[in-house]
Amino acid sequence: MGQGTGETQRIIEEQVGAPNVRVAAIGPAGENQVRFACVVNALKHTNGRGGMGAVMGSKNLKAIAVRGSRPVPFKDKDALKQMIKWYADHFMDHPIERVLHDGGTIGWDVTELDEAGILPTLNFRSGSFEKAEDICGNTFHQKYFVEAGACQACVVRCKRVARSTAPGRSTPPTAARSTRRRPRSARSAGFPTWRRSARPTSCATPTPLTPYRRG
Ligand code: SF4
Repeated sequence: MGQGTGETQRIIEEQVGAPNVRVAAIGPAGENQVRFACVVNALKHTNGRGGMGAVMGSKNLKAIAVRGSRPVPFKDKDALKQMIKWYADHFMDHPIERVLHDGGTIGWDVTELDEAGILPTLNFRSGSFEKAEDICGNTFHQKYFVEAGACQACVVRCKRVARSTAPGRSTPPTAARSTRRRPRSARSAGFPTWRRSARPTSCATPTPLTPYRRG
């Protein structure tokens, strides 16, 4: 007890001795039942609403670790493949999914929210933040972006790994490593991957990413 989620994951991976173990864990906030404590899965998926970390802490449940060893059975594998292919080919047609893919969840215009007075600041004690420009999507991509990531097999890939030089807040190597690993099912299904063609230059003119297909 007392360890952060990164340290917890490292200890469990060592104990289990399997690199493909998946860990959902709480840190000191959950242990102390902070009302908004998160559950962190694989160091980059944060179940951040509802205080589930506090629920785990109240049950003295520090972490759950699982490791799959068998394939997932499908009722109609061909239909599923067709649906996956259709979605991979069309999801960029949807404007919201395009924004999420190109800019991540931070791709929404932070500065516009700030101007409208609805940018959650200091736990919503304010709806405006004087340094909004410093945390908008394009500033993020210029200064802190490491790479895009995704939940299992998701082609939208709205996750972002951030670089930090703040003491004690550097990007955990395990987070970067696990984000680089593409899900096997996504690769085998022929999902597209994406590379950045250029860095955005201002929050008002987001630069789209260029599609790139393996092989
Ligand atoms: S499932 Fe896809 S769109 Fe949803 S949070 Fe995960 S990566 Fe983002």
